[in-house]
Amino acid sequence: MKNSFMKGNKLRLISLNIIIILMVIFSLLSLGKYKVVTVDPIAMNVRTGPSIDFDIQSQVKKGDKLTILEEKNHWYRVKFNDNDTGWVASWLVSNKETSPATNIAAKINTPKTNLREDPTTESKKIATLDKQTKVTITKEQHGWSYVTVDNKEGWVFSQLLNVENNKQQEKDLSSETLFARQDGTKIRTEPSIDSQVLTTLGRGEKIHFLENDGDWYQVKTANGQKGYVANWVVSFGKPNKHNKITSIAETTIVLDPGHGGYDAGSLSNDERIYEKNVTLKTALAVEKELKSLGANVIMTRRDDSFISLSGIAGKSNRAKADVFISFHFDSSQHPNEASGTTTYYYNEKDIPLAETVNSHIKQELPLTNRGTEFGDYQVLRDNHQPALLLELGYMNNDGDAYLINSKDYQKKVALAVKNALMDYFE
Ligand SMILES: [Zn+2]
Repeated sequence: MKNSFMKGNKLRLISLNIIIILMVIFSLLSLGKYKVVTVDPIAMNVRTGPSIDFDIQSQVKKGDKLTILEEKNHWYRVKFNDNDTGWVASWLVSNKETSPATNIAAKINTPKTNLREDPTTESKKIATLDKQTKVTITKEQHGWSYVTVDNKEGWVFSQLLNVENNKQQEKDLSSETLFARQDGTKIRTEPSIDSQVLTTLGRGEKIHFLENDGDWYQVKTANGQKGYVANWVVSFGKPNKHNKITSIAETTIVLDPGHGGYDAGSLSNDERIYEKNVTLKTALAVEKELKSLGANVIMTRRDDSFISLSGIAGKSNRAKADVFISFHFDSSQHPNEASGTTTYYYNEKDIPLAETVNSHIKQELPLTNRGTEFGDYQVLRDNHQPALLLELGYMNNDGDAYLINSKDYQKKVALAVKNALMDYFE
């Protein structure tokens, strides 16, 4: 009796030891697979969950180290600032080219620095900035920074800027006015998103800057209340339509060039232009524009191959796409009896997306706009993500066919979709 009790105890002790040893080995193994990455864009949003539907909880800045804990739908859950965890878009860590909403104080470090309309030396000059001019960086792309300065905004080559560190900022920014960048900007009791909300501000509403506290500002409201506001939701310049927070860099967009392979789609009246070729060229032009903003773009095909309709929606569902767009060109029963573009949606919840995209198509494309319509298409029906199907002109209309096959029109489509999605994700 005594013996067997001892035996059992010993066995238990041994198995406990083995469990402890195994636990140590496993934790060492799992520690080993954690990858540490360094933030390369000027700043990136950290969210409470793996998509842009979740709130921004913090930002990480260039040079910060992130430990990747897990991956889900192309988002990484990371550890940062020693003990905080949150989610970042994985492609922004790996492509290192574009950063989403930021609000970084910087100074021009070179005399006669050009402020330009686009991030290229060929683009139009908006202004010439003196050395030491203070600017606010709101995003960065391919080595260029988008800045606001004295109610103007535009692109400056990033190397011509010195980013201010917090100490300098504290000195320079005292007695300055901050503006809320969006409706519902929260002033809290503590510098943390877990703390109580004192009051909320409307877009453009003024508050008084008191001091820096990490990624937060201590502020005083117009009626004298003291509190904290996250530095990524306010700006030192009055906000206008261009410096709203845009999250497009954090989105996954699936583009579907209609038809392909043995399925040519519709043909032009002279049978020289195939719908499948025009849809591919158009979608590739859109891909280029969206990638320039840092978005994660997934193409359902990139060459002349056939993808089943169920496979197309599946791709969008698996990627948990923020938006899916299928590109097509129409055909009427008789040649040259119809012309123009139509935006199709299937789910009622996609009507706001359809309206936004269609309003840009209407404004920016030269063809007649036939509006938005319900469309019972399988790529929309099987899609669980926000989805549209665009018919961007008629293949069997001689005028439309000539236009839609041109690079110029495809570029216009690309810009219209880009501008629409910037609106949609602002
Ligand atoms: Zn088609």
